[in-house]
Formats: sequence, C-alpha cells, structure tokens
Amino acid sequence: MYDLIVIGGGPAGTSAAIHAAQGGARVLLLERGKFPRQKVCGEFVSAESLGLLRYLLGPRSQHLLCGAVSIPQVRVFLDGRILRAKIDPPAASIARFDLDAALWSSAQHAGVDAQQAVTAHGVAGTGPFRLATSTGEFEGRALVNASGRWSKLNTLPASGGGREKWLGLKAHFAEPFPEASVDLYFLDEGYCGVQPVSLQDGHSDRGRVNVCAMVRADSATKLPEVLALHPALRERSHSWQLIGEPISTSPLIFQPPQPAKDNVLMAGDAAGFVDPFVGDGISLALRSGRLAARSLAPYFAGTACLDQSVHEYRREYEESLLPVFRTSSWIRQALRLPRMVRRPVLSVLEKSPVLTRQLVRSTR
Ligand SMILES: Cc1cc2nc3c(=O)[nH]c(=O)nc-3n(C[C@H](O)[C@H](O)[C@H](O)COP(=O)(O)OP(=O)(O)OC[C@H]3O[C@@H](n4cnc5c(N)ncnc54)[C@H](O)[C@@H]3O)c2cc1C
Repeated sequence: MYDLIVIGGGPAGTSAAIHAAQGGARVLLLERGKFPRQKVCGEFVSAESLGLLRYLLGPRSQHLLCGAVSIPQVRVFLDGRILRAKIDPPAASIARFDLDAALWSSAQHAGVDAQQAVTAHGVAGTGPFRLATSTGEFEGRALVNASGRWSKLNTLPASGGGREKWLGLKAHFAEPFPEASVDLYFLDEGYCGVQPVSLQDGHSDRGRVNVCAMVRADSATKLPEVLALHPALRERSHSWQLIGEPISTSPLIFQPPQPAKDNVLMAGDAAGFVDPFVGDGISLALRSGRLAARSLAPYFAGTACLDQSVHEYRREYEESLLPVFRTSSWIRQALRLPRMVRRPVLSVLEKSPVLTRQLVRSTR
C-alpha cells in the first residue's frame, strides 16, 4: 500500500510526487511513455514558476535553468500590426525533451518509486484506491491524476468537446541568431508561437527555434500549412530548416477546470487545460502538483481525513489557480471579435506599451 499514487510523469505529476516524497510519503509515480521524449508545447516557462522549478530540479539539474534561453519580450503579430511588451522578469525557454526527463530524474532522487512504460487503465474505490495498470494492480491511500489533457482516465463531455476541433503542432527549426522573444502570430483560427530554444545536447546549434501552433483542424493539419497562413510568418519561415520530426496532438478541448473527482485530486492539464498562448500551462501544472501534495500532507500525517484534504485542495485551487483560466478565456474571446472591433483596440495597445504590459501581466 503506497501513501500516494500519481498517474502521469509530466510537470504536474513529478511536482506532486517530489513534494509528497520529500514530506515523507511513500509515493508511486506511473508514466505510460518513456523519457526523454518530445512534447507538443511552446516551451515557454513563465517566470512565476522558475523558483519552484529550481527547487524541484535540485542541484544536479540546475544547468537546465542556467543554460535556458532567456525570453524578455513578447511580440504579437495580429491584423498586420506588431504589439511589443516586456516580460519582466523574463521567462525561460526550456525544451520539454530536457525538462520532463530532468523532473523525472529528480523524482527518482527524491525517493519516488518512478515507473515508466506503465499505463494506468482504471481506478476502483474513493480512498483507499485500487489502480489497474498494464503491469498489474497497485493500491494507494490517495490518488493524484496528472495524466494530462488527453487520457483514458479523463472523461470528456458527451459532446466530445463541442463543434470545434483544435490541434496542436510542433517542430524545431534552424534559424540563425533568432531574437530573444516569444513571437505570437495570430491566425483567423488559432495562433503559432515561435521562440529560440536550445537543447542540452545541441551545442553545435547556431540557432534553433521552437515553432508551436494551435489551430482549428479545418484550417490546417500540418505545420507548413500553418506557416503559409500568416504573411509575416510565411516570410520568416522561408529559410527555416526542419530539425527532427514534427509532432502533433489532438484534440484540444477547453472546459471548466475540475480540481477533484470522486476523491481523486486532479493536477495540471487533467484538472483543466488553459489557453496555450498565455504560456502558463507548465506553471499551473507545477503549482497544482505542489498544492495536491501539500493538501494531502495532513491526511498522511493522520491529522485529517481524505475528504478534508480533497476539500482543501479544491478550495486552494479555486482561489489561487482559477483566475488564470478566467483571464485567458476572456482574452481568447476578445481575439475572436470581428476585425472591425479588434482594430481600434489594437491601435490603442500599439501606442501604449504600458497597457500592453498590463495585459500580459493579467495572464499571470
Ligand atoms: C499547442 C500547445 C502549446 C503549449 N505551449 C505552452 C507553453 O509555451 N508554455 C506552457 O507553460 N504551457 C504550454 N502548453 C501547455 C503545457 O504543455 C501543459 O499545460 C503541460 O504539459 C501540462 O503538464 P501536465 O503534467 O499536466 O500534463 P502532461 O505534460 O501532458 O503530462 C501528462 C503525462 O501523463 C502521461 N499519461 C497519460 N495517460 C496516462 C496513463 N493512463 N497512465 C500513465 N501515464 C499517463 C502522459 O504520457 C504524459 O507524460 C501548451 C500546450 C499546447 C497543446
């Protein structure tokens, strides 16, 4: 019997597992894939979570943060205009290929029983829990579901997420000396983000950019199609050379966050998927994982029952993490206003860097 079983070895799962193990809990962490692996992601890590990330990575993986490309600026390419805003303090660009593997290794060093290539199939009980997996059954006093946006364990709404099907597409390209900026190219149906990134083994790189798009499936299904949809992006990408294989993910579904279900704590994307363009998904995953472990600590110590810990998690989640979802969905709706309405707003923002900066800050 483990104190805690965590399903999913991404940022949310590793954060929950490391924090719980450091608090003395006996933790099992299960991941269906194998690290290192590529992941569809803009690889923009917001400054708010860099301290937490530093803590989780521990002294052995600090080089990941020291070697990360700093991103002190955002440029928004929309309706033929370019809005610029400072990102202060700067964000970091860290390849998920390196980041997720380093977090996994930190979990192992924290004493977590971390098992890769194990898929969780189904849960029985509401505490304690029995978990059926591809390698057998495990029992735990508490369960954190950090299996991401798209897992058999996370039930989708009956409609399958509504009429619109959104895809995520990503690849790294060679671009000589890219500017230290996260560039967001907004399309009629989605956006494409471009930012410099370096890989741990990429010492010979002269310049590499991560290109990551979220688009409606009926407007494009491959990255070259996305690059052709925006005039400035088309021009910029003309000389790019693909590094490695492009990857994709679908469907991207937006629904109100659900921090707990049947006494299972949901962390990261499993609880709720935030609009990727705000660049806060990794941060929310790390923070919700920590919150889950902290909420469960009194239960492990025998000073609270599981119901109380779940209640506390839900309350803290709604108080500290929910505002990001609200702001991002408000901005998403504003971006979808007709061009005629958007234009005067953009014109004001273009002339007022202070306002633009406030808008960027409001997503934090
Ligand atoms: C197009 C796009 C761009 C994005 N850009 C950014 C960005 O620039 N910055 C940012 O902060 N966020 C970004 N995000 C969001 C970010 O990628 C996620 O929010 C983040 O990965 C969430 O972490 P997680 O740990 O919750 O889930 P994940 O990282 O998805 O990890 C979940 C893990 O669970 C495993 N798993 C799933 N099912 C099972 C199972 N049954 N058994 C065992 N293991 C299982 C998976 O293999 C996976 O490794 C972007 C997302 C998209 C789609």
